[in-house]
Amino acid sequence: MTKGYFGSFGGRFIPETLVEPLNELENELNKALKSADFKDKLSYYLKNYAGRPTNLYFAENLTKIFKGPRIYLKREDLCHTGSHKINNTLGQVLLAKMLGKKRVIAETGAGQHGVATATAAALFGIKCEVYMGEEDVKRQELNVFRMKLLGAKVIPVKSGSKTLKDAINEALRDWVTNVSDTFYCIGSVMGPYPYPFMVRYFQSVIGQEARRQILRLEGRLPDYLLACVGGGSNSIGLFHPFYKDKSVKFIGLEAAGAATLSKGKIGYLHGMKTYVLQDKNGQISSTHSISAGLDYPGVGPEHSFYKETGRAEYYPVNDAQALYGFKLLSEHEGIIPALESSHAVAYLKTLSPKLSKKDIVIVCLSGRGDKDADSVRSLIK
Ligand SMILES: *Cc1c(COP(=O)(O)O)cnc(C)c1O
Repeated sequence: MTKGYFGSFGGRFIPETLVEPLNELENELNKALKSADFKDKLSYYLKNYAGRPTNLYFAENLTKIFKGPRIYLKREDLCHTGSHKINNTLGQVLLAKMLGKKRVIAETGAGQHGVATATAAALFGIKCEVYMGEEDVKRQELNVFRMKLLGAKVIPVKSGSKTLKDAINEALRDWVTNVSDTFYCIGSVMGPYPYPFMVRYFQSVIGQEARRQILRLEGRLPDYLLACVGGGSNSIGLFHPFYKDKSVKFIGLEAAGAATLSKGKIGYLHGMKTYVLQDKNGQISSTHSISAGLDYPGVGPEHSFYKETGRAEYYPVNDAQALYGFKLLSEHEGIIPALESSHAVAYLKTLSPKLSKKDIVIVCLSGRGDKDADSVRSLIK
């Protein structure tokens, strides 16, 4: 494979001014990943601060309800700050710290990545500024306040649709201008090379643990892995360590109103070649999902590669189905899932009837649902 690409996807489609910074990032990342000091520090914080390893929990009640496969939940909802996002921000902000950067910037949609970046920045004592679309600032008041409590500055973005994609554009612009002292912490397996590889590295801890855990619990590999796909980081984190295990099937669940892989076309967005939701003229489409974390018109390039090569399958899940998954897990396992993760839970209803009692399914529970209490209040009876 060409460096920086997954098949024909990925690469670097960026302004000239970002070439040097991205080369520097690539070099420093390669050094860090070979350094015992960096890896030891990261493991230390993942264990003692973020709470890893997370449990691989046998969902006995769901297994009974669906009368089919044995269902396990990879409990990323138990991580500090409530989702898998902290795996990535601890890695990137630790790298920023070791590079002597004075300032970390990030983009955020729902605010989860912003909160996770602000958390890591507070921990490592680096100044943090987060770009967030003005619409999202209004919709996600609680997370805006959390970031402020953590000492970060939230910068509302007034351009375009005033949502995540515009926040990413602004963050890239900031990085071009302030690259000497600033580190850009991207929140998913997206953006120009080496970001998709770097974020995959930090999130692969999910799949590495799950692989060990299922071998210990069941004595064999699972048949299916299920995860929701926004930018694609919790899913790649779970899938990638099983890539070579051809008997393990990957299924990614997208929000029906932002189903980039199910309904998009190949194009360019935020520095990468990948599937993009766009109209006939190549204009980026507006998206909708009940879960802000899946509301993105692009997707990490590795997923485009998995789709093209048939390594993974991707299906849309609509808002009503996601709410069903949300209620199901809350009422029958006592676990309130994030609306994003609920998309993956909901798909069990479609998949289970096709499987037997011998099959094993692992669902990535990417986050907890406290943040969604307000959005579901009016929708659930
Ligand atoms: C951000 C987020 C997602 C979507 O992002 P990915 O990069 O696709 O993982 C999913 N679940 C939760 C809980 C999130 O916070």
